[in-house]
Amino acid sequence: MKILMIGAHQDDNEFGRGGLASKLVKLGHTVQFLSMCNGCGGHHIMGPEETTRTRAKESAAVAELLGITYDVWDIDDCNLVADLPTRKRLIRYIRHFNPDLVIAHRPNDYHADHRASGQLVQDASYLLTVPNECPDAPAMRYMPVILYNEDRFTNPPFRPDIVVDIGSEIDLKLKIASLNVSQVYEWLPYTYGEEVPEGEEARFAWLKGMEITEDTTDAEVMAAPRGYAVRYAKVAARFRKELIEKYGEERGAKVRFAEAYEICEYGEPMSKEMLEALFSF
Ligand SMILES: [Zn+2]
Repeated sequence: MKILMIGAHQDDNEFGRGGLASKLVKLGHTVQFLSMCNGCGGHHIMGPEETTRTRAKESAAVAELLGITYDVWDIDDCNLVADLPTRKRLIRYIRHFNPDLVIAHRPNDYHADHRASGQLVQDASYLLTVPNECPDAPAMRYMPVILYNEDRFTNPPFRPDIVVDIGSEIDLKLKIASLNVSQVYEWLPYTYGEEVPEGEEARFAWLKGMEITEDTTDAEVMAAPRGYAVRYAKVAARFRKELIEKYGEERGAKVRFAEAYEICEYGEPMSKEMLEALFSF
């Protein structure tokens, strides 16, 4: 199957969907990332052009490690708008790739670019099948299934329709997070006022936040203040009930790292076949 993951920015796919992306590639599916913005806004020392160039190199490294294709559009960060030209551009883009499944942001989010990106996917979804809309790009016969990746916003709350154990992918997911050097070691710590330790090994340990083992409890994970291993472990802790429902008491209780997805009601309904093919690991 063909899976298109659409983020506003270059780390959105990596952080929210990276474990699933890695697993799907290993299962033989084709995965493509799209970042609708060019990354120009994400640095406090480099200017916009240098930041864009740096982010492009980091995304290329992610694509190579994951075994995916990765497109970055030329829209400046903080300038993504759910307007007609961008909607038409997205319709043509999605039709060209012709995905079975699209993963997007929910349109409720703190960041204007995330909101616009989620809105654009919603606005495009039905029109993908309308031949007289953008007639230069052949219409799809059916809409793709559309999922939203997990977030922590509560109005309305995220609904974990699908949960997956990404324990087998966690090392790779942390590695792809760390390939976004200018973000995870420079820009984001700057925005949070955090000190990053010197040296490759020390800073990777810092990136993780804490070592999470079989014995780490959900309470310890939820109390941990920061780190990417912590962040991905919090998803498992938050959705423990759903993990136990899916995997049974024994495995479900032991899942340390998870990703969760909400089914968007504006795409094609999720079929049993797709659920089994893509989410039964
Ligand atoms: Zn983002």
